Amino acid sequence: MPQRKAETGPAEKALIAGVAKPRSHTNLDPMDSPATIDAATELKALIGLGRDELEAEIAGLGEPAFRARQLWHWIYHRGARSFEEMTTLSKSFRAKLAGRYSLARPEATRDLISTDGTRKWLMRFADGQEAETVLIPEGDRGALCISAQVGCTLNCTFCYTGTQSLVRNLTAGEIVGQIMLARDAVGEWPSPTHERQITNIVLMGMGEPLLNYDNVARAVKIALDGDGIAISRRRITLSTAGVVPMIKRCGAELGVNLAISLHAVTDELRDKIVPLNRKYPIAELLAACRAYPGASSARRITFEYIMLDGVNDSDTDAKALVKLLEGLPAKVNLIPFNPWPGALYACSPPERIDAFIKILQNAGLVAITRTPRGRDIMAACGQLRSESIKQRRFK
Ligand code: SF4
Repeated sequence: MPQRKAETGPAEKALIAGVAKPRSHTNLDPMDSPATIDAATELKALIGLGRDELEAEIAGLGEPAFRARQLWHWIYHRGARSFEEMTTLSKSFRAKLAGRYSLARPEATRDLISTDGTRKWLMRFADGQEAETVLIPEGDRGALCISAQVGCTLNCTFCYTGTQSLVRNLTAGEIVGQIMLARDAVGEWPSPTHERQITNIVLMGMGEPLLNYDNVARAVKIALDGDGIAISRRRITLSTAGVVPMIKRCGAELGVNLAISLHAVTDELRDKIVPLNRKYPIAELLAACRAYPGASSARRITFEYIMLDGVNDSDTDAKALVKLLEGLPAKVNLIPFNPWPGALYACSPPERIDAFIKILQNAGLVAITRTPRGRDIMAACGQLRSESIKQRRFK
């Protein structure tokens, strides 16, 4: 067997093992503690603390555990933005909280709405770093695509975000804060039980979520809590380029839907399109998918396949994809490539996409072509990249 795995340095190894932080140029270190301190106000952020952590904070103030439960309800169910409005808490307790803690969300520095209704926010965090969050409405559903990192280390060659080097992981508060800000924007507090605008959460924005697992897991657990944001695990999808060692853990601990950015059917091509493949080749990735806890024909694993003209879109590729996914509870999303300035690829013509999907469907695979959304505001798949980086480049 030829040796396929690329050599990696100790930093990348630690990053992939989920134990190290990426290159950081900030004072905020999301791996230190679940609670971060706002450098300007010196107040501790409460958003991002799990239930146990919140209880510990409140116990530290000499208050009983039920106060933490009330606070949780105000923050995550009612979406309170100030302690002042938490009228079931005593005035003295509210004043104590206000002197120590912050409920700040990320700040939306841009809010763009596409002609097709897709909405994109540029989120600025306390240290000035930025990431993007996209709401894609569709009939009576709405998927919120959130970011896990500022930038990305993985450099997938079709992806605009991949051209921006990793700045840092987002904290749990910054990840869940994206959901809260979107809920603020669409007026969705307290958490509705019916007729929500934001029905699904997809971790498909900037960054690789499984390289920021601890913060992503904490944020997902907060979003799942029934007395809070209350999104069911069946409505949360985590998309990975294939960080194989973390896939099983994600399934066992979070039980969310899994999506794989596959995009090629041979290691030779995938090594180029998704360079992480050099470390975790297709066979290892698919073995991890076969073992993914909870995957079934009712909860299929999504395989994303971007359609690149003349690169990965032949009939032979389609037939090989059918063979690769044999026996897996899979569904395939074909994604027409969304061009961006300087991109190496063009999108496959519509008739090629049709021919490709017919081969998949005729073989019994569940497959759809995803309609591109938000192209006019650069909110479509693979197009996310924070505006600040571009602006800095042109200074
Ligand atoms: S596709 Fe995802 S993992 Fe690949 S570079 Fe883009 S953000 Fe990173």
